[in-house]
Amino acid sequence: MLVTAGAAGIGLAIATAFKDLGAKVFVTDINPEAVRAAQDSGFSAAVSDVSDEEQVKNLAEQVEQQLGGLDVVVNNAGIAGPTGPIETLDAEAWKTTFDINVHGQFFCIKYLLKFLRKSECASIINLSSAAGRLGMAGRSPYSASKWAVVGLTKTLAIELGGEGIRVNAICPGAVNGPRIQAVIEAKATMLQRPVAEVSDLYHAQSSLNQLVEAEDIANMAVFLASQMAQRINGQAMAVDGNTEKLY
Ligand code: NAD
Repeated sequence: MLVTAGAAGIGLAIATAFKDLGAKVFVTDINPEAVRAAQDSGFSAAVSDVSDEEQVKNLAEQVEQQLGGLDVVVNNAGIAGPTGPIETLDAEAWKTTFDINVHGQFFCIKYLLKFLRKSECASIINLSSAAGRLGMAGRSPYSASKWAVVGLTKTLAIELGGEGIRVNAICPGAVNGPRIQAVIEAKATMLQRPVAEVSDLYHAQSSLNQLVEAEDIANMAVFLASQMAQRINGQAMAVDGNTEKLY
């Protein structure tokens, strides 16, 4: 299997869960230090920027050669993008958010499909977000990009389902870790409110009044890739403790 941006954060939790179950796991990341650490932990790994078509094309060949086959692709790479009211947002930052969050998934699927077609249990899992089901004030490029991921998922589920290739998305709520802390701080600056207050709002988004853990997302990825999910296709699975409004 391949996990993009699998050397840190949610991607590393997913890669670790599959490796612990005995899967051959290849991870990529744009950050060479994270890739070296992943190699030291026993993963096949390479530096690759998902938003660079040529790099993804080369990566696909490398993955096939090193793993000798491919059943599962987890399109996990994605950035938070800029926070702010729409009229203040920079066009380049907007485009970069789409380049990584949407075009990155397109490139990976485009170049890895020929290898997935050889598998009898092929599964593509795209990381969307609760922001891909709901609106999120001040985070328009991120939310729009994650809705695009759901559109891509539902379309490819129909396009590839007849070949037995399942395509699903995971929509995590706010996941405990450094990234969500940075998002909370950016939101507090935008709202001119104390960070602790905005942090409480982020916890209260979930009916469980707590953040999601990266391992919760890994559990959903393992389930979606497994034969237990063999008739689940084209779904955007929420792992957010039941969230109906995002701050
Ligand atoms: P993260 O910000 O912790 O980043 C993980 C890794 O992505 C980093 O090691 C980084 O180097 C790598 N990366 C960044 N740009 C890349 C690129 N162009 N190519 C390859 N690798 C790149 O991310 P995370 O919080 O673990 O999120 C993983 C996925 O889950 C993303 O798609 C994100 O949008 C989604 N998600 C996250 C949260 C959350 O609260 N963290 C919530 C919902 C959805």
